[in-house]
This record gives sequence, C-alpha cells and structure tokens, in this order.
Amino acid sequence: MIHYDPENIFAKILRSEIPCKKVYEDDYALAFADIFPKAPLHILVIPKGAYTCFSDFSQRASDPEIVGFFKAVECVTQQTGAHKDGYRLISNKGANAHQEVPHFHVHVLGGKSLGGF
Ligand code: 5GP
Repeated sequence: MIHYDPENIFAKILRSEIPCKKVYEDDYALAFADIFPKAPLHILVIPKGAYTCFSDFSQRASDPEIVGFFKAVECVTQQTGAHKDGYRLISNKGANAHQEVPHFHVHVLGGKSLGGF
C-alpha cells in the first residue's frame, strides 16, 4: 500500500484547516479553484477519501467512491460551463508527471483553446 501523508495540503483543505475557493461538494468529492491557475478555468477535483494518486484510488476505493468521484468531475464540468466549448482532464501521478500534492486529484482545465497536447 502507498503511504498517505495526512498533512498534505489537500488533506488540510478537506479538514477545512486551510481555505479554498469551493465550486462543488458532495459525499464523494470536493472541487475548488487551483491557487496557480494554468488556464482561465482551472478546477481541482479531489475524493474525500485518503488516496495518494489515481493508481491508489483505483486499487483501494470502493465502487461507490469511484463512481461518485467521476460523477462529481462531470458535475463540475457542467456547473462551470466547461462542457460547452470543451475541457481537458489531467491527473498527475508520481515523479515522471511531477505530481506536487500527494492526494489524488483531477485537474479540469478550460475557458480557452488549450492547444494540442
Ligand atoms: P499536481 O502537480 O500535484 O498535479 O498539481 C497540484 C496543483 O495544486 C497545482 O496546480 C497547484 O497550483 C495546486 N495547489 C498547490 N497548493 C495549493 C493550495 O494550497 N490551494 C489550492 N487551491 N491549490 C493548490
């Protein structure tokens, strides 16, 4: 099992120990604005459970947690209007991807043409 650090910044946001600009919340997920946005729309969606990355989440989360989380991502794309002109989802895992915060998260990027990948 991958070690989860309960002092990571997103765990602190989940515990309301530090503030965030919340855009969506339900039983499974919290979504908030990225503090250093890389696009006009840059939202982070995180599961409420303690998972370090996509692999950890996929392996250990329950089916309701996984379904609930990805439905929350879809709610965010609808609620923010990102679905109209399109958006990009990114999830960084580990050193090669330069994952900065070790709590699984999906970046929702949009609000302009993002160029080719
Ligand atoms: P990663 O590289 O782990 O996929 O992305 C982490 C993201 O978290 C970065 O885009 C970074 O700007 C964002 N971030 C880091 N610290 C904070 C914070 O305290 N609050 C918010 N809202 N975003 C943060």
